[in-house]
Amino acid sequence: MTNPIIIEGGFVLPRPRATDLIKNASIAVAGPLVAAIGSLPELSRRWPNAEIIRYPDCLLVPGLVNAHQHGRGLSQIQLGYHDDFLEPWIAGRRARGALDSHIVTKLAAARMIANGVTTTIHANYSYGTGDYERELRGQIAAYDAVGIRATLCVGAMDRGGTVYPPHEACFVAGLPDDLKSWVSKSPAAAYAGDGAATVELMHRLRRDFASHPRIRFCYGPAGPQWVSDDLWRLIARDARDNSIGIHLHALESPAQKAAASELFPHGTFTHLDDLGVMTPSTVIAHGVWVDDADLAVLARTGATVVRNPGCNIRMRNGIAPLARYLRRGVRVAIGTDNCSMNDDEDLLAELRLAGHLAREPDWNGPPPPSIDDLLAMATVNGAAAAQFGDEIGVLEPGLRADIVAFSLHRTGHPYLDPDMPLLEAFVARAQGSDVRMTMVDGRVLYRDGRYSDVSLDELEGQAAAAAEAARAPRNLADSDRTQRYRQYLYDHYQQLTDRTAGALNQKAGRN
Ligand SMILES: [Zn+2]
Repeated sequence: MTNPIIIEGGFVLPRPRATDLIKNASIAVAGPLVAAIGSLPELSRRWPNAEIIRYPDCLLVPGLVNAHQHGRGLSQIQLGYHDDFLEPWIAGRRARGALDSHIVTKLAAARMIANGVTTTIHANYSYGTGDYERELRGQIAAYDAVGIRATLCVGAMDRGGTVYPPHEACFVAGLPDDLKSWVSKSPAAAYAGDGAATVELMHRLRRDFASHPRIRFCYGPAGPQWVSDDLWRLIARDARDNSIGIHLHALESPAQKAAASELFPHGTFTHLDDLGVMTPSTVIAHGVWVDDADLAVLARTGATVVRNPGCNIRMRNGIAPLARYLRRGVRVAIGTDNCSMNDDEDLLAELRLAGHLAREPDWNGPPPPSIDDLLAMATVNGAAAAQFGDEIGVLEPGLRADIVAFSLHRTGHPYLDPDMPLLEAFVARAQGSDVRMTMVDGRVLYRDGRYSDVSLDELEGQAAAAAEAARAPRNLADSDRTQRYRQYLYDHYQQLTDRTAGALNQKAGRN
């Protein structure tokens, strides 16, 4: 047990409910847990030897949860990738070498800590080294070194490595010979291998980190069009048997919507539900193109959806219907996807963007999210998505001391009308850079621009060197091939989306 700490705050928001805001409150922390919330004199009487950290002008909130990102501490723009549709963007990675994901994940974690994020979900992503377990273990070590709480998704995929099924063979057959042999050679098994190997890896990791208080695991099957029914069944069964969450991308892009209309004519989430995938521990990233049937399955099964608003705009995915999700009672969290509107890790800014984009221009439409809805997205809902639901997301005695102190200067200076609720102003105005202190498990990780365990300069230097080293493709001809390949993808998806839109319109006309 470390010595008790008292964090003196101006305001404490113990849970995402504006009416619960407490003025002139402080928090006592003992070991990794919150010990009490009360006035400074009262807490000082109870813990006379406590170290007092003074933030009397700050709002103390539960640590934020970035519920979907991939450990990319250098942004795609910084790494030389243009914003594009998702599918050609993924293919663009063929033109580059493999990035050292340990280093960039460390930088991502440090940036998140500085923006008030204390927990994150690292979604499935293969950095393409060919040794997925090594990549994952490097990422775990990175999160651990920075001290952030992290849930890592063990990825899986067994189809759709070129274009979405059922068109792979036909698409590849239409490529010129050199591209044909090139894409056929490319590693389709980006992750651990088949279903059995994926399950084995999951259990190896769970054994190795069973006693780690800050590291957890989810299955990360890439998405409905990338995973066969057999693989879904296998993962869903093991997830259910061992209480493991599942985190997947779904209905993210217009091309995925088109593919889903062919692959899952009765509805994507109805299909996943039939396979046993949909439970309260299932998390859907993006969910841009959901229809009423999808919303009904998500609401009924208690799954969580993660909104990634900046990424969805930049990748031409579209705007997920947040207000409609909330009206149906679907739990929604928030993520940056390392591709935010401002190309940074400011989760509050993304939350604000999600809120604004949900303001539908329809007098009879669903109401915009409330301040409580938005605060829940960044705290308790993210905590549930990260499978830490009972331990974080709120500040209560006995729960984990994941606490962030936000300066209220930008929110209220030089004037704030006394009738304006503080939290409404905070959500409208605050930025990640207003963070003064970030604590995880009772340890101060970041305070007034300085990290306790890492040096930002060092991390940035290492990340830049890693990016430089991964700049050139392993084979120089890959750059040219990737360029040409991209045009074939464009042609394919232009035709696919055109064709399926026609079919969907016909269906709608008949109904
Ligand atoms: Zn993602």
